Amino acid sequence: MTGAWSSERLTAGDGGPGVTVHELDSGRDGPSVLVLGGVHGNEVGGIVGAGRLTTGPLDLRAGRLRVVPVTHEAAFEADSRTGPGDGGNLARSFPGDPAGTPTQRLAALVGDRLIRGSDVLVDLHTSTPATDMPFFAGGLDDGGPAATTGVALAVAFGAGIVWTHGSLGPGRTLTLARELGIPAIYVESPGGGVLDRARLDGYTGGVRNVLAHLGMLAAEAPPARPGLWLHGDGDTDSFTVTPAAGLFLPEVALLDRVERGQRVGSVLDPRGRELAVVAAPEAGHVATLQRSAVVAAGTPVVGVAPARPPVLGRPSDAVYARAVAG
Ligand SMILES: [Zn+2]
Repeated sequence: MTGAWSSERLTAGDGGPGVTVHELDSGRDGPSVLVLGGVHGNEVGGIVGAGRLTTGPLDLRAGRLRVVPVTHEAAFEADSRTGPGDGGNLARSFPGDPAGTPTQRLAALVGDRLIRGSDVLVDLHTSTPATDMPFFAGGLDDGGPAATTGVALAVAFGAGIVWTHGSLGPGRTLTLARELGIPAIYVESPGGGVLDRARLDGYTGGVRNVLAHLGMLAAEAPPARPGLWLHGDGDTDSFTVTPAAGLFLPEVALLDRVERGQRVGSVLDPRGRELAVVAAPEAGHVATLQRSAVVAAGTPVVGVAPARPPVLGRPSDAVYARAVAG
């Protein structure tokens, strides 16, 4: 009953950056969902996770789905997080500038032609090769109606972990979505730069869960309930940075529960002597963890996020109660 996928090339003017958009239209009323992969060009799990949506069977019952597997093409071709020419981080460039650098022009193109006009945004990222994060779906929870819908979508994704934020830093796809009143979620996972079939199934299945939640696909098995729900700013303020350059040795694992000031790692010299101790910045769960050993002074190595309290005094409290209590 669903038509075939079609593809369209969008470009920011002559010779400007562009994206290839794959679209599946059910021909029936319903939400317009946008899925982005590769906003960071080297985050291959999100790229293939998004891309394989467009090649597998998808019996769309309502609305339309648009998928951009590789959003920052120049960065992808350079196997880089950022644009090789201008050094631009697309995930810090929204709403963009049609007269700016190539990355700013790309942000303007994606923002104006794709995010604007969508009813839901799903932005698929991964950790970097140097840093791990758990597999989670996250988004803004500032109490607004779009954010509250987004929180429900993050639960529906079914990653097993939800991470909500009271505010968002500037320049993200989610920041623009917030300005436009569009519910939006993002996804992260460990093992940046590496493909893993189970993880790819997690990405693709998660998007299918979101589409089912929106009534665009027939409901499948209910998504996993969140085993852990973190709430915090998810930004740099809750990271511990290395006090010295050297070789970082983690002493905790992702999601470990830590107390404020607890020792979580150390920086060693080549003979294994301790140059500095790294302590947890606050009580909570280890949500980001440096993997690669070589660190400069000031490298953020351990990020900690507290578990969400059952009552934030926001509309999402009801979403939380349903999700956790089932
Ligand atoms: Zn990313």
